[in-house]
Amino acid sequence: AHLERIAAVEGEVHAFLHVNGEQALATAAGIDRRRAAGEPLGPLAGVPVAVKDVLTTRDEPTTSGSRILEGWVPPYDATAVARLRAADAVIVGKTNMDEFAMGSSTEHSAYGPTHNPWDLDRIPGGSGGGSAAAVAAFEAPLALGSDTGGSIRQPAAVTGTVGVKPTYGGVSRWGAIALASSLDQIGPVARNVRDTALVHDVIKGHDPKDSTSLDRDWPSFLDAARGGRGGAGLRGLRVGVIRELNQPGFQPGVRARFDEAIALLADAGAEIVEVSCPNIAYAVAAYYLVLPAEASSNLARFDGVRYGLRRMPEGRRPDVEGMMAATREAGFGPEVKRRIILGTYALSAGYYDQFYGKAQKVRTLIQRDFVAAFEQADVLVSPTSPTTAFRLGEKVNDPLAMYLNDVTTIPANLAGIPAISQPIGLAEEDGLPVGLQTFGPVFEDARLYAFAGALE
Ligand code: GLN
Repeated sequence: AHLERIAAVEGEVHAFLHVNGEQALATAAGIDRRRAAGEPLGPLAGVPVAVKDVLTTRDEPTTSGSRILEGWVPPYDATAVARLRAADAVIVGKTNMDEFAMGSSTEHSAYGPTHNPWDLDRIPGGSGGGSAAAVAAFEAPLALGSDTGGSIRQPAAVTGTVGVKPTYGGVSRWGAIALASSLDQIGPVARNVRDTALVHDVIKGHDPKDSTSLDRDWPSFLDAARGGRGGAGLRGLRVGVIRELNQPGFQPGVRARFDEAIALLADAGAEIVEVSCPNIAYAVAAYYLVLPAEASSNLARFDGVRYGLRRMPEGRRPDVEGMMAATREAGFGPEVKRRIILGTYALSAGYYDQFYGKAQKVRTLIQRDFVAAFEQADVLVSPTSPTTAFRLGEKVNDPLAMYLNDVTTIPANLAGIPAISQPIGLAEEDGLPVGLQTFGPVFEDARLYAFAGALE
């Protein structure tokens, strides 16, 4: 049924970069046979899952939205993908994304943009617009994304789906093509909170192949999400509204739905408090130093030798340096080049303390702001994005406008804390979905599921 749905709507939505229907049907048939034989099956038995193309999939193409990886077929599964398969999920395809996950609209994909199923002239968010659009368009019930500065939560918000960025280290990054290693997290996208919890339960947990993956016993997120149903768990809960993330400049419909959600929480017995995280004012600036610096280093591996594309220089002797330069010139898009240049500049000798080092200090201040705020509140809330889905083409030639759109989501990545986005209605001015973002303290992902589950 999902393959039929994909065939029917992909021409308009373009959520996928690669669909292998035959493979998916063969996997599903194998699961059916095991079911008929009475064998035990995993918690996602037979359920189709769409996977962001940032995650490697064995024997299936993986491009990270870039020309430089066109045609590359990894010989291994990312840990999160391997865990989905072990849970008997069916990988239905690889979803579109901004090149190397740099962007907020999926327009920086080398393979053309994804369209928002709510309004095909609008962006589906980014960088994981493909995963969110696939779920919103009923092409898949579940998807995986990666969130470095909001790439799971913002697409979820603008497509009316639910997206979760786990605590940093909560899900293995092994096999996830790195953007900024200290910020990247893998997480779920689905159409309701319980479904995200179900996927998170399958992919979470320590992985010896990722040295930053946390070795701890996580509670069942599905139990947490179910436990809060019907509003139980909201009574007496202290909900902190972050003053710096509730600005007059936000779109009116976004603010209206957010205010309504706060009123609803108060009605359900939650205690609403206002909190301040003053250093959030510097979050975008710090993020756009940390991210390009780490990205420029991570992307050094795309050199024409090890993966994908190789180009020889024209009009000069084909030495190694010329080959690398020609390959990177042809293989990377403009946004990727922009960030590599920013990053290498920020890291260059003599500038480290001025830029990267300073940004890391700001990051510590933001972390401390959150720690202090969580002494006053159990969870913190804000709109997930300052606007609803903007029009395709609206910001693509204005990098700064695109970066500023991330103001609400990047603080969680800088602090390493978990955050969830869930739908809270439509903005009246454009009829497009609005998301509520909830932050929890580090390791308290279960608290977010209980809260979001109760609100759903
Ligand atoms: N929009 C952000 C950026 O361009 C988020 C990226 C991400 O989370 N992968 O960096």
